[in-house]
Amino acid sequence: MGNIMIKKLLIANRGEIAVRIIRACRELGIATVAVYSRADKDALHVKLADESICIGEALAKESYLKMERILCATIASGADAIHPGFGFLAENAKFANLCRKCNITFVGPDGDVIESMGDKSAARNTVAAAGVPVVPGTSEPVLDAEFGRQLADTFGYPVIIKASAGGGGKGMRIVRNPDDFIHLFEVASTEAKNAFGDDSMYIEKYIEHARHIEFQILADNYGNVIHLGERDCSVQRRHQKMVEESPSAALDEELRCRMGEAAVRAAKAAGYHNAGTIEFILDGKKNFYFIEMNTRIQVEHGVTELVTGLDLIKEQLKIASGERLNLSQRDIVLRGHALECRINAECPARGFLPSPGKVQYLHLPGGNGVRIDTALYAGYVIPSMYDSLAAKVMTHGANRDETIAKMRSVLDELVIEGIETNRQFQRELLNDPDFISGEIDTGFVEELLRRKKEQKDGLEV
Ligand code: ADP
Repeated sequence: MGNIMIKKLLIANRGEIAVRIIRACRELGIATVAVYSRADKDALHVKLADESICIGEALAKESYLKMERILCATIASGADAIHPGFGFLAENAKFANLCRKCNITFVGPDGDVIESMGDKSAARNTVAAAGVPVVPGTSEPVLDAEFGRQLADTFGYPVIIKASAGGGGKGMRIVRNPDDFIHLFEVASTEAKNAFGDDSMYIEKYIEHARHIEFQILADNYGNVIHLGERDCSVQRRHQKMVEESPSAALDEELRCRMGEAAVRAAKAAGYHNAGTIEFILDGKKNFYFIEMNTRIQVEHGVTELVTGLDLIKEQLKIASGERLNLSQRDIVLRGHALECRINAECPARGFLPSPGKVQYLHLPGGNGVRIDTALYAGYVIPSMYDSLAAKVMTHGANRDETIAKMRSVLDELVIEGIETNRQFQRELLNDPDFISGEIDTGFVEELLRRKKEQKDGLEV
């Protein structure tokens, strides 16, 4: 115990999460191996790792998604474990199984758990059987639009059509009018086929004015499962998170306990090990429903780290090494408030079009309660073929108001020159009265954009 068995870790990822993992390894005395594509030879994770191995061309499917190359790199470098980060191979059951076959520790749950929770329709059934509330919806995959429409009629409109293999908001459509069902089903399933190579769909009742509330879970290999409180991720554009915070303004201690207990039950029902997230939808009457489980570390894990004082990457490495959790539910106390704004290389004025390119000048603020996770440096050229996340700006304060005030100050000071970012948009969002009051739901950003457009059109008339 306390003696980490992992000696050398290969990080099968890039960007800020690769950097985050390398730093945690440094602290723990674990040697690190970075892998990179040709587009990433100057990337920060390559510079910071003890060793680095080029695994292919720029396109992810020629490099970061090439399982056999990553496994070869692991074996060649003598690494005994792989951390997949998020995205790429993080939720790929085949990859997790291959690691095991090669005697490499995969920092995450077992392949069969990834597979069973990765099928979102099957995951609903698993947790529902354990008594966790799910949104009314289909229990079998739906492949036929007409059959889907018949089922949707029984739930009542609006409904949401989702891809069983879904992620990143893809293959998802809200249907408000039964006449639109067939068309939107075809659109969603085509999108799912293209994105995931799988067009099996499921249908849920669409919960209006809902909040997205997720619970962070830690589970060791000996049946100990705890939750680390919630993150409110209701600030979303096109079902993609933009701002995350903990605790949620919508939860009191009683509801937190009930939701946390349901999250633990869901993780146990899945036979889960390592860090994971149970996502819920919370309606205006404080009813909550499971929507999915993410079987990996999340982009927004830092928010939970700030309020709990824990290091989730280190916890992941310890659990993967076979250590027992040395925390019980009673040890987990949420202190103060934490907020994260995702700064993306994108241009809000042009429909949030990605804006890759050279970072000419960079100033990252610091100070009390400020944390910025980024792989940017001055002179770095952000490649065009990966996602647009440029920096995760986090603040931690005594309460929500102080944390928001701190974030305003940090975003005002932050300078990223050479590329377009959503910094100003995030800054405006922090001044919105609905955001300040905490009275937000998942429609908040679209509504803000609609109001901005109205204002602009009004000015132009
Ligand atoms: P993905 O895995 O693609 O991110 P999720 O199932 O997590 O998809 O859903 C993404 C977002 O879509 C949620 O955060 C929420 O805003 C919205 N959503 C999903 N299901 C529902 C539902 N049944 N009712 C209302 N909103 C939903």
